[in-house]
Amino acid sequence: MTGRDWQVPVLTYHASTVGGPDYAGNDHVAFASDLATATRLGWRIVPLQWVVEQRLGLARRDLRRCLALSCDDGTVLDVRDVDYPGQGLQPSFLSLLEAEGGQPDRHLTCFVIASPEARARMDRDCLHGLDWMGEEWWAPALAGGRVGIGNHSWDHNHVVMHEAGPGGMPRGDFHVVDSDQRAGFEISQAADYLSARLGQGACPLFAYPYGHAPDFLVRDWFPRQGSALGLQAAFGTQGGAVRPDSDPWHLPRYVCGLHWSSPAQFEALLAGLA
Ligand SMILES: [Zn+2]
Repeated sequence: MTGRDWQVPVLTYHASTVGGPDYAGNDHVAFASDLATATRLGWRIVPLQWVVEQRLGLARRDLRRCLALSCDDGTVLDVRDVDYPGQGLQPSFLSLLEAEGGQPDRHLTCFVIASPEARARMDRDCLHGLDWMGEEWWAPALAGGRVGIGNHSWDHNHVVMHEAGPGGMPRGDFHVVDSDQRAGFEISQAADYLSARLGQGACPLFAYPYGHAPDFLVRDWFPRQGSALGLQAAFGTQGGAVRPDSDPWHLPRYVCGLHWSSPAQFEALLAGLA
């Protein structure tokens, strides 16, 4: 592979997926297993930011046999070991990553939801009401050097927000973010919130809630507004590696539980890209 035809898989996990002790249904078990597999097979973990810089022509690193890690929805389980009700202690993604000493550039980007009200409702209605969706961990995690904080929208346009969004926007779907007004509400508002807490330019990456990437955002709004908000790229969940011709406003990711559900499937996924 030359510098021109590089490809890097970006993996996505959800720390709130704790359905039992097994790989399928517990993203902490899967994450630990996948890190070990990647290291054993000679894959190098690199920051997601490196992948974006490569795509944008801002860097020309050797990214052969490299992969990047991300997780969505931003709970404290990303970075802190938590005793999960009925399931026992779950080591955080960060704990598992820290332990992978053979990977000097290991890094994880956590895409978080900005709105305090949305996070409070999700914590109560979708999790266990144990205050797992606070924001107090964002800045220390970022300062620790192994974690990036990314923008996963203002409120995920999640159904916990019972009230319609701007212009009567229905909830539970991100394809409906199809106007300047709605994009401002979901994306600019989140970017401003994250900048205020973590510093200007600290969160240059966006991930589409539900993996829904409306044409309006990909082709029109992000190219017009992205850089003014300090955003460089947006990630979907369409299952492919990032390549030189990938759309920077709709870069692909693989999702654990959707694109692979076992160590063997993970190994096959990597083998298909080597
Ligand atoms: Zn999400």
